[in-house]
Amino acid sequence: MSREQQEVLRFAPSPNGRLHLGHAFSALTGERLARARGARYLLRIEDIDRGRCRPDLERELIGDLAWLGIEWDGEIRRQSEHFGDYERALQRLRAQNLVYPCFATRGEILDAIAETGIGLERWPRDPDGAPVYPGLYRGLPARQLKALLLEERSFAWRLDMAKAKAEAERIAGGPICFAEEGQGPAGETGEQTIKPELFGDVVLARKDVPTSYHLAVTVDDALQGVTLVTRGRDLFPATHVHRLLQVLLGLPAPRYHHHGLIRDAEGRKLSKSMTSKSLRDYRDEGMGPDDIKRLIGLPPEPAAASGRI
Ligand code: GLU
Repeated sequence: MSREQQEVLRFAPSPNGRLHLGHAFSALTGERLARARGARYLLRIEDIDRGRCRPDLERELIGDLAWLGIEWDGEIRRQSEHFGDYERALQRLRAQNLVYPCFATRGEILDAIAETGIGLERWPRDPDGAPVYPGLYRGLPARQLKALLLEERSFAWRLDMAKAKAEAERIAGGPICFAEEGQGPAGETGEQTIKPELFGDVVLARKDVPTSYHLAVTVDDALQGVTLVTRGRDLFPATHVHRLLQVLLGLPAPRYHHHGLIRDAEGRKLSKSMTSKSLRDYRDEGMGPDDIKRLIGLPPEPAAASGRI
């Protein structure tokens, strides 16, 4: 099979905490899908948040994945080494007049929502649970914008979602879709029409972090030639934004396979911030890679893996 025809999958963890069982499930699921398809399997370190990501956690993470027996094809890509790629993509969206500087603090955004009289409880939330941005600083007259920029206050670049979606549909010649081979949280599968407006005017870059998850992941999946994105079902909604950005940036569309999540005894998704038990903790207790696979419901031998994950 030539490189051009060979599929490419990836695992893209962030070194901002220790890996837990959910990461093991995601990394192994991706690897098994890749091997079953004769695809290349890449590792990408998503470390754009220099304040929270740490080199020691990255080293540990790479060690944990090797301990699980996962092998990577090609070089590891570290997002922090490629900020120029994301800046160029942002520049392209600026040239299309689809992003605008937003100077609002969190407090100002909440005040603006309170002033609408709707109340924070009834205000729409995005799929991540954050209140949808109320549109402050969108469409400012040029003079006012210039004055604000001269004040040198810090700002974030936000995507003008309504304008961006209209432009993307113009480019695509109609509604935009993505192909889901796995399942979304409500069982979505097959062809999905994007609804990026669920997120409102998303932030694409900030002063302290010159890109965002959405922008970096979209650019990198294209630069790395990823043909099938495998990741947890919690990231299914983000795909609406990624697919929109792909059209606006002229990037190819990978297919998607969102897989199930590993939950704790109370049914909550595992998280680094909630200090879920880490792979290191299991390792320190004397468990081996096959014990981890048993805990997450994967057969020890990849050849036995079949059916929908
Ligand atoms: N870096 C993201 C995370 O650790 C995953 C990104 C993705 O797979 O698209 O949750």
